[in-house]
Amino acid sequence: MMNREEVLRWLHETDPTRLADLYARADAVRRECVGDEIHLRGLVEISNYCLQNCAYCGLRRENIAVERYRMSDLEIMDCVQEAVRRGYGTIVLQSGEDYGLETGWIADLVRKIKAGTSLAVTLSLGERFPEELAAWREAGADRYLLKFETSDDELYERIHPALPNRAYSRKGLLRILKDLGYEVGSGVMVGLPGQSYQALANDLFLFREMGLDMIGAGPFLPHPQTPLGQDATYATLPPEEQVPATEEMAYKVVALTRILCPNANIPSTTSLASLNREAGRRLALQRGANVVMPNLTPGTYRLCYEIYPEKLCFHEDPDFEHAQLMQLFADLGRPVGKGPGGRPVDIAKGKESSL
Ligand code: SAM
Ligand code: SF4
Repeated sequence: MMNREEVLRWLHETDPTRLADLYARADAVRRECVGDEIHLRGLVEISNYCLQNCAYCGLRRENIAVERYRMSDLEIMDCVQEAVRRGYGTIVLQSGEDYGLETGWIADLVRKIKAGTSLAVTLSLGERFPEELAAWREAGADRYLLKFETSDDELYERIHPALPNRAYSRKGLLRILKDLGYEVGSGVMVGLPGQSYQALANDLFLFREMGLDMIGAGPFLPHPQTPLGQDATYATLPPEEQVPATEEMAYKVVALTRILCPNANIPSTTSLASLNREAGRRLALQRGANVVMPNLTPGTYRLCYEIYPEKLCFHEDPDFEHAQLMQLFADLGRPVGKGPGGRPVDIAKGKESSL
């Protein structure tokens, strides 16, 4: 197993030949531990209302420039049928923290999807209350995605202002989700202003310690209508300590995540593909990732789900995106995963890579 000093050395590494070795090792671990299949999860952004005021995200409640929407159950079910038609194994329902999406309404929606399709259902609806998470699990939801964003508590509190009367942190909710029997996904942003190399190394070891089933790590992309996008002094570190929000740093984190958590499902993130439209998706898949989440949100709503500017899917025709993905997988010689593509092995009993 890689130790902390090695991880820190890799995070600082800039030599292309040595980095090529790291990426080749991550790719070999990926092949050995989760195989060649690439799993497709159809993403539907069901509402952009949000009660939270995260300093990094364009959907924060104080951003009054956003036109807010909430999809109807009929509109969502159309997207679900589209996922089935395209042969995806999972539907991901994502939103801001929107209490207009009522507990019972989401539970009914999950039941309807589970009764009518063989899709796995992933929810990513923010920091909802434990009773709600339990009700949705009971209704049949399989997975929940909630990134802890950074393991540095002080930085987290600065960029994710706490709401009053909340008894649970994101990390606490991740434990509750696991106890409820969800497959649990989490992750971080890479290059957040104020994120040090030490903190990023801690994130990587926390992924492992938490035994996460899915781990997403994409670059932080500044949004002009957010405090982190407007104010360069919002959270600062000396330049030699600050993790840069670069494409290369994001690849390093994907590769190190694969090496430290060999059995996890790791997406090639949209934020990475937005930074490098030409090759971002492919390079992440060649450096440890095994999951892609094509966007199925109807065009009218997509543009309003502006977490950060110039998201890849803004300009993409869904059929064109699908065809491009199929071509990419064929070029890589990697098959599309069949079925829900859940945790490849019980992570707790998962094997370590022999590499
Ligand atoms: N509201 C839910 C939540 O926060 O978990 C789900 C939706 S939220 C938009 C999904 C993810 O977007 C967050 O976990 C965060 O990592 C990512 N995100 C938000 N703002 C971002 C930014 N400026 N750059 C990169 N990723 C960002
Ligand atoms: Fe809301 Fe999630 Fe954006 Fe935070 S990251 S403002 S919780 S949508």
